[in-house]
Amino acid sequence: STPMASEKEAALAATPPDSDSPTIFDKIIKKEIPSTVVYEDDKFQWKFFIHTRTRAACLFLYFLESRLFLHVNMPTVQKIFKCVLAFRDIQPQGPTHILVIPKVRDGLTGLSKAEERHIDILGRLLYTAKLVAKQEGLDDGYRVVINDGPKGCQSVYHIHVHVIGGRQMNWPPG
Ligand code: IMP
Repeated sequence: STPMASEKEAALAATPPDSDSPTIFDKIIKKEIPSTVVYEDDKFQWKFFIHTRTRAACLFLYFLESRLFLHVNMPTVQKIFKCVLAFRDIQPQGPTHILVIPKVRDGLTGLSKAEERHIDILGRLLYTAKLVAKQEGLDDGYRVVINDGPKGCQSVYHIHVHVIGGRQMNWPPG
């Protein structure tokens, strides 16, 4: 079958989780499976922050920088650490095909699960899509896609923005 057909089959076979069940993207984030990373906005890891011997120094620096560390919550963590990762899709639908994901899912299995607290990260995902498109030299245009749910052909339940380019796109999408 064509890549498009197998992607649809994968989407229809995928079970939309209502919980925190891990996805393949968690392994990509943890570098447990290889991926070609094209953009990562901050390599600073929360784990590192907690566990290293330099945590006192880190706390002090972040205190000076943000003065917010005493009231850290998820949106603040995302604002400070800018947890976005972009990597090449394993089954590219064009010469360039990149996925942009949040490193902290925070309940965002898909766009349809978005809440007010996700507004910052949603903006950051789209802004990162623009950055990677520029980095890839897609100056004549590109396609940005978010698939949601079985009918939207979503197969991985960790929100992701597709950036596809390097060829003429068609409309309507299949
Ligand atoms: P969706 O169909 O919108 O959910 O997109 C999921 C995308 O993830 C598809 O385009 C897949 O090709 C891609 N994908 C799945 N597993 C991997 C992987 O291990 N590395 C990179 N891309 C992947």
